[in-house]
Amino acid sequence: MRVLGLESSCDETAAAVVDGAGCILSNVVLSQIEEHKPYGGVVPEIAARAHIDHMDRLIEQAMTEAGCELGDLSAVAATSGPGLIGGVMIGMMTGKAIAAAKQIPFLGVNHLEGHALTVRMTDQVPFPYMLLLVSGGHCQILVVRGVGNYQRLGTTIDDAAGEAFDKTAKILGLGYPGGPAVEAAAQQGDESRFKLPRPLKGKPGCDFSFSGLKTAVRREVEKLGDTITQQDMYDLAASFQRALCDSILDRMRHAVEIYQKQEGLAQADGGPHVLVVAGGVAANSYLKSNLQQLCLDSHFMLVAPPPALCTDNGAMIAWVGVERFKLGQRDGLDLAARARWPLDPNAPPAAGAGV
Ligand code: ATP
Ligand code: MG
Ligand code: FE
Repeated sequence: MRVLGLESSCDETAAAVVDGAGCILSNVVLSQIEEHKPYGGVVPEIAARAHIDHMDRLIEQAMTEAGCELGDLSAVAATSGPGLIGGVMIGMMTGKAIAAAKQIPFLGVNHLEGHALTVRMTDQVPFPYMLLLVSGGHCQILVVRGVGNYQRLGTTIDDAAGEAFDKTAKILGLGYPGGPAVEAAAQQGDESRFKLPRPLKGKPGCDFSFSGLKTAVRREVEKLGDTITQQDMYDLAASFQRALCDSILDRMRHAVEIYQKQEGLAQADGGPHVLVVAGGVAANSYLKSNLQQLCLDSHFMLVAPPPALCTDNGAMIAWVGVERFKLGQRDGLDLAARARWPLDPNAPPAAGAGV
């Protein structure tokens, strides 16, 4: 069994082939960083045009590297949301065209489910598990019970975790994308130098807030004015990363308690509960080492995909295709692209979100 996965929801154009056992036969990712760099963020129209320019060639490359032809595929999976609608439509239309031409099933995949289920491909993690999803557009804690079966425990009321990294990088002049740049700068900084806020820390629940943190970084930069040095930048990056991780850990402690109460103190097989961290920010080593400590204290086991599978890629989309195909699920060629598509449609609005 072989499934082609296409990803085009943001600023990566990606194609991959994954087999039924979760072996990645090819995984080609083209980042549009250079196209968006001059603007300090992703420009939707530029992204959509770049997806059109590159998608066909990437599919060809993915098929060649996997050593198979379109006729060998069992199904095609393409991101159908959430994301920038122009980009989503390009990957999805391409996937549908291949499915129609080769008379094979099409599966429209939720991009967030791609992040959520990647560890089942890399580490064969069984359901249920707790998931910290930290990406460019999301920051959520979920219980993953099965394919398409999610319970959201908390979400951000303003910025996503990756967004906070990207905006902070912009304020510090570290460039785009901000996450890796802030992490590298922080390694040379003093994390205790600047006293930055930990929004929502100590409040009940599992929701997040990061916009005040980013504003506090901006104020510090303004206070330092023209005299700001390279070391000041490093110290601010480190203090920001410390504050963001502190906030996440505080929220995670509540989530761990809720999860343990819900699921019983140990898994049915006596093994530890599993905490998965996924999404682009899960590539951050500092966050992972903090989560590792929390897991040790709470008798959880931390699992994270390798960094290259944390950021957007086609293999995670192909894998959701594999999982859904095995369950007998198929989507029609009339499936619509969705700009918004929550994993848990029944989740109440975030506390304090005001909506
Ligand atoms: P979403 O998945 O929510 O739709 P997205 O697909 O744009 O958003 P991802 O590709 O999953 O986001 O992740 C990209 C984000 O991850 C960016 O905000 C980037 O700055 C952040 N990121 C990547 N590497 C790191 C790192 N080492 N440390 C912190 N953040 C990182
Ligand atoms: Mg991206
Ligand atoms: Fe993503």
